[in-house]
Amino acid sequence: MLPETVEKLWQRSSGKCECIKAAHNHPGKRCSQELVKEKKDKTEAGGWKIYQVFVSGGENINAYAVYCNECFQKAAIIK
Ligand SMILES: [Zn+2]
Ligand SMILES: [Zn+2]
Repeated sequence: MLPETVEKLWQRSSGKCECIKAAHNHPGKRCSQELVKEKKDKTEAGGWKIYQVFVSGGENINAYAVYCNECFQKAAIIK
């Protein structure tokens, strides 16, 4: 993924987890966990990952979502 695409995703997220999975029971529908931009792919607090929503994503930001580590792990398990 291009750094520009990551940047666009981060901007869209407003620095918060974008997970809206009903299975996670987020109060207010969206997780909105606050994240730290520099902590992409880090497992510590404020860390985040890019979750691929659609199989063929390419550079289309709509195919991805910014997830906190907790949601990313849960999503990976539940599918
Ligand atoms: Zn989350
Ligand atoms: Zn979630």
